[in-house]
Amino acid sequence: MRAANNKTSFLSKVFSDVRLSTDSSEISVRCPFCGKAGKSKMCIIIETDVYHCWVCDEKGRGLGKLIKKVAPQKLQEYNEQYRSTKSPAQKIEEQIPDISLPEDFALLAGNDFLDPDGRQILKYATSRGFTKSKLWKFRVGYSKENQWRRRLILPSFDEDGELNFITGRAIDKANTFRYKNESVSRNTVVYNEIDVDFSRGLVLVEGPLDLIKVPYNATCLLGSSLNAESRLFHQIAKNQTPVILLLDPDVKKKVFRIADLLSDFSVDVKVNFPPEGKDINDLMEDEVEHLIKTAQQYTYACKMKIKLGAIKI
Ligand SMILES: [Zn+2]
Repeated sequence: MRAANNKTSFLSKVFSDVRLSTDSSEISVRCPFCGKAGKSKMCIIIETDVYHCWVCDEKGRGLGKLIKKVAPQKLQEYNEQYRSTKSPAQKIEEQIPDISLPEDFALLAGNDFLDPDGRQILKYATSRGFTKSKLWKFRVGYSKENQWRRRLILPSFDEDGELNFITGRAIDKANTFRYKNESVSRNTVVYNEIDVDFSRGLVLVEGPLDLIKVPYNATCLLGSSLNAESRLFHQIAKNQTPVILLLDPDVKKKVFRIADLLSDFSVDVKVNFPPEGKDINDLMEDEVEHLIKTAQQYTYACKMKIKLGAIKI
């Protein structure tokens, strides 16, 4: 740990406009290639020396090239004392806890011989808006294992098809423990990234069950905020993916925060909300489609108008 602290303070002397991430694993600095004073757009992972600029897309591993540019007199000290010997893959492996689907996980779709639990879970899924094709699309299933019993299970897969998140929604009202989740490191999860195309417009909703109603390229935040250190944010910023935010009306402030963050990284943002008192999941698919089509371009003026109630969206 001491060595890491020393390295952070060494890098802070080498680069300008240095900002440390909340978990101290990364720093953002002024990009030596395209940087302007006061802008910290180059991100460096301290342990692995992996760097990437969100603006000019300069990236690589090993900081020698960068240090040569901004402080060549420090290069020797870097090479002798701070150069990383760890591969990025090693680091990722250490970070990711293993998760797996229950042994007896069974898909609801195409299952003609559902037992009583299975039938009730299917009934619940239908009531939440799942059609047969959507059961396939979201790979929805169930299990009889104690911890997953009488839960609608939605698995999520990363871009390589590896399981990265599981949520189990209790189907019984009496069960106050509504969601059971399992996750790899939260910041690395993009919900069903395997189905997401970052080169097209992307709709962001709050939870997996909201996604059922979105007939569009979409993923969910698994909450109502977007962390600047998350993979989802990095993917959007890197690909300059146009974003449509469709969150529930009770989290407007959080929507503004997300929209401000994305706008800071020159991402095109539109926003819309379901009618007061309704959540995305309450709406019909064509109502959601209408929200997408009528979403407002997010600008400072738009934010003020929504705040003042001058535009009703
Ligand atoms: Zn740059």
